[in-house]
Amino acid sequence: MTALSDSSELRRVGRPVRAAIALGGNLGNSQQILPAAVQAIDQELGITVVARSPLYKTAPVGPPQPDYLNACVLVETVLTARSLLSRLLAIETQFGRIRQERWGARSLDLDLLLFGDQIIDLPGLTVPHPRLHERPFVLVPLADIASAWPHPIFGKTIAQLLEQLPIAGVKSSVEAIASPQSP
Ligand code: ADP
Ligand code: MG
Repeated sequence: MTALSDSSELRRVGRPVRAAIALGGNLGNSQQILPAAVQAIDQELGITVVARSPLYKTAPVGPPQPDYLNACVLVETVLTARSLLSRLLAIETQFGRIRQERWGARSLDLDLLLFGDQIIDLPGLTVPHPRLHERPFVLVPLADIASAWPHPIFGKTIAQLLEQLPIAGVKSSVEAIASPQSP
């Protein structure tokens, strides 16, 4: 048997996990930033983008600020949820995000929505994303690419969660502006 020269090079690679990621932004040219961010995600080692929604223009939540563009992508990854999120936060920074007021304007927001059927509640990492089920600007694009995915806590699919949003009219504040493209 041959000895391994450097066991630190090895890591256990399990079966890829499917994860859902939300993208949003309202500072700078979001119509360029969001597709470029999808490309950056896909170029990460251990992450492959397998589906992407159209871009949606959505009304802002929180302090007064410009409209947002939002989208969702599905990825397959051999990374842990923790390292997937840290790659996403690094991509936010790469695209010029500066954390200021909560829910304030930003060039790029990347949220980890779902990670397989896992439920994770750790400091700095909550999955499913705790506000996923109440945000039309997340559920509308997510339903385009993952309508049958069951929410691991509520047991309802994304399509059912979208259907049961309390104020039906709020969905009309989400307007498709671009068709899906391949990653
Ligand atoms: P929001 O997306 O709600 O506007 P931020 O993007 O400012 O808020 O996120 C703040 C922090 O939330 C991040 O530093 C990150 O560590 C933490 N966080 C915890 N769980 C998640 C998750 N599932 N997706 C994205 N960020 C998360
Ligand atoms: Mg975020």
